[in-house]
Amino acid sequence: MFENSSKTTLESFGEFGLIKKLTENYSTKNPDIIKGIGDDAAILKPDSEKLQVITTDLMVENINFDLAYTPLKHLGYKAVVANISDIYAMNAIPKFITLSIALSSKYTLEALEEFYTGIYLACEKYDVELIGGDTNTSPQGLTISITAIGEVSPDKYVTRAGCKPNDLLCVTGDLGGAYLGHQLMEREKRVFLANPDMQPDLEGYDYIVGRQLKPEARKDVIELLAELNIKPTSMIDISDGLASELKHLALQSNVGFSIYEEKLPVDTQTLEMASEFNLDATMCALNGGEDFELLFTIDQADFEKIKSNMDITVIGFATNHANVCQLITPSGSQFDIKAQGWG
Ligand code: ADP
Ligand code: MG
Repeated sequence: MFENSSKTTLESFGEFGLIKKLTENYSTKNPDIIKGIGDDAAILKPDSEKLQVITTDLMVENINFDLAYTPLKHLGYKAVVANISDIYAMNAIPKFITLSIALSSKYTLEALEEFYTGIYLACEKYDVELIGGDTNTSPQGLTISITAIGEVSPDKYVTRAGCKPNDLLCVTGDLGGAYLGHQLMEREKRVFLANPDMQPDLEGYDYIVGRQLKPEARKDVIELLAELNIKPTSMIDISDGLASELKHLALQSNVGFSIYEEKLPVDTQTLEMASEFNLDATMCALNGGEDFELLFTIDQADFEKIKSNMDITVIGFATNHANVCQLITPSGSQFDIKAQGWG
């Protein structure tokens, strides 16, 4: 979905001209950037008191995103969010990103400018700065790789290991929305392909469409946990789905989990769309990915500090049954949770 209608081919630029065009109005403010975009490499001055946290992601067109319904601006924004969400999941603060792209000749300068608008918007919102990247051509489609660099005090980082039996399992926000937003847009795409005169009908579903197209990373929650003086015992971000992330925490912390079905936070639009698709809302909450919420465990002693927070829900607790993750239904039945990871 290219919003801008004029079309300037990339061949008329060359790599150097293109990078210049995309980055010439961008300037960094962080004094720790000794050298940003424009040289052979960036130079940073690390904070000597802090540890550095580094993560990287790769996104491939038609595998990880579909431009039939994803505006390039949103794609740029989401690419940054997905990446820095991993830094927050370590209880760290992202500071810098690099952005590498490989693109085919179907992309115009205007399309790339849209994409960079989204990148810069996310940088602004999350207070991270673009310090470099690489640009290449590709025989087909668009491939995006982002690396983020963050920092954390040596006593503050949180990994997937560290949860102990009886810790409380918490999740932020609500679940399943991004997955159902994706299902909805896939359906509207099929309708459009069958009959191009049909306009997509997304009315009334702005929340779940937004969850899919413009997700946010939980910077606010990391800041809140610091304010409340809570250091989670383990943490992960939900990119593949609650069930799959739960398995990671269980495996790496050597614990099990019991979660209560009725505690799973699900928005009303998600519930409505699930019923329209004849899907079980609990399965969507468990297996739908890309919500970019945080899943973490806390010591029971910290419960008082979070219990009235609307954005954090305690959904269960850790057990000493290593790797056994169970869902407890409202009637008290227990089911083993399988990590399905719907595509
Ligand atoms: P080299 O040939 O040494 O890799 P490049 O010409 O690729 O150098 O890059 C020149 C500068 O532009 C570097 O600072 C690099 O980090 C930056 N850069 C290259 N591609 C991008 C991009 N897609 N987005 C942001 N910065 C980029
Ligand atoms: Mg290069």
